[in-house]
Amino acid sequence: MHKDILIVGRGLAGTLLSYFCKLQGKSYLIIDQSSPGEASSIAAGMFTPISGKRMAKSWMAETLIPFATQTYIAIEKLLETKLLHNQQIYQVFSSIKEQNDFAARLDQADFASYLNPHPLPYPHAVEPFGAFEVNQSGWVNLPAMLSGFEQLLLQEDSLENEAFNHQALNIENNQWHYAQYTFGNVAFCEGHQYRHNPYFNFIPYTPTKGEVLTIRCNGLETERIIKKGLYLVSIGNDCYKAGATYDYIHTQHPNPTPQGLDELVEKLRTITNLPFEVIKHESGIRPTAKDRRPIAGEHPQHKNLYILNGLGTKGVMVGPWVAHKLVKNIFDKEPLIPEIRVSRFI
Ligand SMILES: Cc1cc2nc3c(=O)[nH]c(=O)nc-3n(C[C@H](O)[C@H](O)[C@H](O)COP(=O)(O)OP(=O)(O)OC[C@H]3O[C@@H](n4cnc5c(N)ncnc54)[C@H](O)[C@@H]3O)c2cc1C
Repeated sequence: MHKDILIVGRGLAGTLLSYFCKLQGKSYLIIDQSSPGEASSIAAGMFTPISGKRMAKSWMAETLIPFATQTYIAIEKLLETKLLHNQQIYQVFSSIKEQNDFAARLDQADFASYLNPHPLPYPHAVEPFGAFEVNQSGWVNLPAMLSGFEQLLLQEDSLENEAFNHQALNIENNQWHYAQYTFGNVAFCEGHQYRHNPYFNFIPYTPTKGEVLTIRCNGLETERIIKKGLYLVSIGNDCYKAGATYDYIHTQHPNPTPQGLDELVEKLRTITNLPFEVIKHESGIRPTAKDRRPIAGEHPQHKNLYILNGLGTKGVMVGPWVAHKLVKNIFDKEPLIPEIRVSRFI
């Protein structure tokens, strides 16, 4: 049987890639096996145009956020499921310095539209230095999106839940062969596991482990995300995702740790005085490139062999645009911008 493309991995990257292939009318097969450390199923799914302690504008926010928003709305229609939650982020200052940095940002025209210096108070927040609000932000329910696509792919008979064996992939007469299939193209969307990929393991491995809690807390707001060192995203029924940690060292150990739990609980206590109960503790490995840019494009030697990876800490915002660009690159030969090309690692 012949398909236009084989996609290995069904996290956010592989799912979005299959979605844009579908829009182009291309046939595909996804091979995926759930594994420890996968990021998409545990991520809070937040997006924001302003990030980091220094309140920097996120890379290409003006392009990426509208494109992502439009994509998730279209996916909601396809899956008939609510996924996108446009919500402001109530961001608490942790010092006078942060207040001053914020004041400077307000004077910059390209920042001002994203910031509200006078938000309504957030109930039960601990905020000795005050707070501001970020607009054009929100979160996407990634577990719901992944499970919606899983149903769709199973109905289409285009999903195989098994480990992909790289040694069994061969090329003959310009076609990739795997099991009983032939493929015009192959795209690897393996998240942090790309280090085991014999074709793409030349890319430096610089992942970031993250741990996240689901807590139950009565009395916090549900309409906005609150952030102070860590974020709290309301996911319904008085439950919130609280995260995340950033660990650049223990990236070979994907499981949650007592240290991660302590760090998150301690930070939570600086956000609110309300009592809370930890109901879940998860961890994953963010596939992050050293230059914090996505990784996309064709293998430098092997024709029609592609990668989509490096979604890092901002998969929700970056993923739709880069997956769309890669599909245009694979099937319409539209060039990718140099900043995201895999060839930058050679
Ligand atoms: C704690 C935490 C919080 C986060 N919060 C946010 C957030 O709020 N907002 C945001 O935008 N991003 C967030 N992220 C980052 C986001 O999760 C990632 O950018 C994104 O999910 C990466 O998706 P991916 O598809 O590349 O990788 P993954 O989700 O890891 O998916 C890769 C898939 O490929 C499969 N696979 C790999 N190798 C094989 C093989 N040989 N055979 C079969 N299957 C294979 C894996 O099992 C997995 O299913 C967070 C990440 C973490 C860890």
